[in-house]
Amino acid sequence: MTPVSSKLYADDVSLLMVLIDTNPFFWNSAQSTLPFSKFLTHVLAFLNSILLLNQMNQVVVIAAGYNSCGYIFDSSDPQNQNKRAEDLLHKLEEFVDNDQELCREESVDGPGFSLLSGSLSMALCYIQRVFRTVPLHPQPRILCLHGSPDGPGQYVAIMNSIFSAQRSMVPIDSCVLGAQHSAFLQQASYITGGVYLKPQIFDGLFQYLSTVFATDLHSRCFLQLPKPAGVDFRASCFCHKNTIDMGYICSVCLSIFCKHQKKCSTCGSVFGQAQTQNSSTTPDRKMKMPVDG
Ligand SMILES: [Zn+2]
Ligand SMILES: [Zn+2]
Repeated sequence: MTPVSSKLYADDVSLLMVLIDTNPFFWNSAQSTLPFSKFLTHVLAFLNSILLLNQMNQVVVIAAGYNSCGYIFDSSDPQNQNKRAEDLLHKLEEFVDNDQELCREESVDGPGFSLLSGSLSMALCYIQRVFRTVPLHPQPRILCLHGSPDGPGQYVAIMNSIFSAQRSMVPIDSCVLGAQHSAFLQQASYITGGVYLKPQIFDGLFQYLSTVFATDLHSRCFLQLPKPAGVDFRASCFCHKNTIDMGYICSVCLSIFCKHQKKCSTCGSVFGQAQTQNSSTTPDRKMKMPVDG
């Protein structure tokens, strides 16, 4: 991550946007390894340590639920100066209850997905507001505490958020709590210059959070932070939202399709005839996706 010199950053003051996965289906499945209450204990201690590092540091917590997203806590709110933890937990409880009421499906196969795309967009909107209202603003960064598997339907929205964060020079840090790696968050951290980490031992979650994710962007120049072992760069097709190794790309708008289409569903461009399988001519719209680098 190269910090921008053109922006007027206040030195070493951080604006940390923390996205908490509250998908009840995931936390139910993670009950034996990391109960939600224990996770919150680690996170609250971490948030307090961020606020202790610099009295001007700001922490904003956004919950990513199964049906909705919501702002849970903002340390700059004068009402939150006392009883921070109580206020946060109270709001979180309210959010989870409301999120549950929106749940129409009786049963969900597997742990389901949480609205990562929505919470990322909310974080970026908040950061944009800070950029526009305060001339000397803190250095923003986003930390995703995410456990649910990637929701393929959110691929386009998440990639748009990632590119928006990259453009605004906002790094996205990822701490993955689920059993699987998250290809979305691997790409998010890689593209925006954030740190991606999947802790092995959840008993020491606070240690991971405080040693890796509490560091401000200036300090990161001097630290050896975890490097990603590999990033899954595979894309999802726009038609079925499946993760694909090979696909067709619209040469006009770069939409990705798993099968040959007559017309691009995004921009309406009309494609030529499909190349026959054994044709030796160059298939100009067929592109090989980079696989697991
Ligand atoms: Zn498809
Ligand atoms: Zn197109």
